[in-house]
Amino acid sequence: MSQETILLPNGGFQWVLSNKERESIANALDTDGQTLSSIKGNVIGRARETCSGCGKLSGLDDFVKNAVDLGVHSKSFILGVLTDGVKRETPSHALQCSGCGTHFEGVFPWVVDMAI
Ligand SMILES: [Zn+2]
Repeated sequence: MSQETILLPNGGFQWVLSNKERESIANALDTDGQTLSSIKGNVIGRARETCSGCGKLSGLDDFVKNAVDLGVHSKSFILGVLTDGVKRETPSHALQCSGCGTHFEGVFPWVVDMAI
């Protein structure tokens, strides 16, 4: 299975970054896979969700594309968060499928201070 999820002892879910997700993040941030090679995945308070529109599994690429589309953060800021980790309390995010635009149900709480 290419899109793995690991249940962590603290109850968080690590969404292990797949190569395909790494590629689409690199495209979204105008960088290359090499820059993102240290990123192993993100830790979220719930399991991956399957998109009701296209069947894609939710991933870090959806968060990145949503952030770029909203224009709230610069691409270099997003890249910094990805490579340095989440440093402070981050609000739960609503998430939209980057494949078809359907909203995943509910919100996705980031789990901070997790070394991955
Ligand atoms: Zn979709």
